[in-house]
Amino acid sequence: MKHLSLLIVILGIIFWSSCKTIKKDNNLENNPLVQKFNTQFEVPPFDKIKLAHYLPAIEFAIKEQEKEIDVIVNNQEEPTFANTVEALDMSGNLLNKVDLIFNNLLSANTNEEMQNLAKKIAPIISNHSDNILLNAKLFDRTNTVYNNRKNLNLNTEQSTLLEETYKSFVRGGANLNDSDKETLRQINEELSVLTLSFGDNVLAETNKFKLIIENDENLAGLPEDVIKAASETAKESDLDGKWVFTIQKSSMIPFLQYSEMRDLREKIFKAYINKADKNDEYDNKEIISKIIKLRYKKARLLGYKDHASYVLERNMAENPENVYALLNKIMEKALIVAKKEAKNLQEMINNEGGKFELKPWDWWYYSEKLRKEKYDLDEEALRPYFKLENVRDGIFKLAQILYGLQFVEIPGIPVYHEDVTAFEVLEEDGSHVGILYTDFFPRASKRGGAWMTVYRKEKKVDGERIPPIISIVCNFTKPTDEKPSLLSYEEVLTFFHEFGHALHGLLSQCEYYGLSGTSVQRDFVELPSQIMENFVPEPEVLKLFAKHYKTGEIIPQELVNKIINSAYFNKGFEIVEYISASFLDMDWHTLADTSSIDVNEFERQSMEKIGLIPEIIVRYRTTYFSHVFTWAYSAGYYSYVWAELLDSDAYESFKENGIFDKSTAQSFRTNILEKGGSDKPMNLYKSFKGAEPSIEPYLRKKGLL
Ligand SMILES: [Zn+2]
Repeated sequence: MKHLSLLIVILGIIFWSSCKTIKKDNNLENNPLVQKFNTQFEVPPFDKIKLAHYLPAIEFAIKEQEKEIDVIVNNQEEPTFANTVEALDMSGNLLNKVDLIFNNLLSANTNEEMQNLAKKIAPIISNHSDNILLNAKLFDRTNTVYNNRKNLNLNTEQSTLLEETYKSFVRGGANLNDSDKETLRQINEELSVLTLSFGDNVLAETNKFKLIIENDENLAGLPEDVIKAASETAKESDLDGKWVFTIQKSSMIPFLQYSEMRDLREKIFKAYINKADKNDEYDNKEIISKIIKLRYKKARLLGYKDHASYVLERNMAENPENVYALLNKIMEKALIVAKKEAKNLQEMINNEGGKFELKPWDWWYYSEKLRKEKYDLDEEALRPYFKLENVRDGIFKLAQILYGLQFVEIPGIPVYHEDVTAFEVLEEDGSHVGILYTDFFPRASKRGGAWMTVYRKEKKVDGERIPPIISIVCNFTKPTDEKPSLLSYEEVLTFFHEFGHALHGLLSQCEYYGLSGTSVQRDFVELPSQIMENFVPEPEVLKLFAKHYKTGEIIPQELVNKIINSAYFNKGFEIVEYISASFLDMDWHTLADTSSIDVNEFERQSMEKIGLIPEIIVRYRTTYFSHVFTWAYSAGYYSYVWAELLDSDAYESFKENGIFDKSTAQSFRTNILEKGGSDKPMNLYKSFKGAEPSIEPYLRKKGLL
């Protein structure tokens, strides 16, 4: 649930100027970014791209799109769907190509120079985007087509493109007067850089903290593999002979689950929750205040009550009231469960003779103990069955069973880092679907979390399908000298999740760039990803990949039963942790008085209002809530639970017809995965399911009924 899909915000990536000069190579003839990619499958020639190539390529690509826009605007013929709306969708090819590569690498393989360059490029892109959306002649033409839409005999996808294009102009300020347009430009430019700086600070803070253990007594309780991984992390930091834990989740969570050293658990946990909140150069509070103010100002300028209303207008949820209603309904039930869980953990502490109150840094430790006691299930005992390569092959196998897809590794294709592997994705009959990159392990140059992204979006040109290039980026448990990468159950779920997004991007069959793949409403985009998570605990699916990494033995049924029996375990905690972050996001973006903002006090009040218990800390505190301050999830973090209603309901069809049922899978593919944003999400959903979703399957799945 914590994962994100970096959607292509077609024209919306922004930053600010930097003091550092970055070299430019203005010779376009030698610039691989502006040439046709002379590589297998026309993938980006990562081995040839240098930092100096980006800025000239982007400047050139912007000029190219400006020429294309001029042609549209100066067309002497009456505006038509083809010569205006379609032509606009087809423009900007080169810019999209370069911008995607730059931004993808900025997240997955960055460095300080690149971050500085990003802050230079962002305002350029922001201004270019505004030049299009605030182009009065272009809007006039679009408006003419829009007003005449009933007479145009457009198909569903064309109607959707027209509607989306028209709305993007209106929401982009096309109806504002000149002075307001200027204000909007400034806001967009400033926001573009602030959101980047926010992310840079979070990454710097994540890389900065190290829990260094010098004395092996302080390793008490930790499983051997966890100790081994910490010793290798220490070596990477030139701390041979010691052990290092970081606040990357793949390092921190096992420590919190198993370390008997309560003071050290507290130390690492506090380092995590105080990220970018230390009143130093990496502090995000000032940036947050500015972002909140600017977002509010922008929403008001455009005639909306607040930023959340502005965002939600374009989502399935439609308005903040609907979101709050859903969050309240779930929170009420989940809090009761979480309080019971806290009570059980406290009892465990008391029974052990511990004379202290349960704190947030104790939760993982005691819940892990309780899981063992109640279900005889040790999370670590599962890992040997979840060797990364086996899980990957199992996922590929599942995609073959459901959709007939094949995945063939392509050795020797250019990649941006040695950890990246490329696969060709093929239909059952061998025809080409697209390319999939995988990039699994954490490193200092990579942002935290897991995401799917796109290097080339699917679309059709003269009826011919341009195949997509998709990437999955994760921060999974690394292999050690002695052992391969053995995933936790949570990481397996994450992998399935991101793979679901990848299928959405790969299987797209849309005409238009702006509507293809994962370019759907924010609270719909998690349906294809989350539905994949439902498959994981199914015994038939586990048999596909859960093989012991040494013996090849399939996971014993007894262990599978333990997973199934413990399905409701710790759910109160998980839901409350997540829902409280959704509330926090909504509270920030419905805030009307932004005159003086005290970030931590606001957060405290927001959490108090929903009755969050002190033993649980909100999943993301404001100062490192990258989903809403760097990525495009502002007033959208609720999307995961919204989509979970959909995926729980949708998965019932798989359960009813058999989880490997080909016709159910085919229907999901043709009605949802192939359709991108070419129709309204509810229409797509109903054409798969035959009815609107109900909340009961979700509540049942979570044990909240
Ligand atoms: Zn996702």
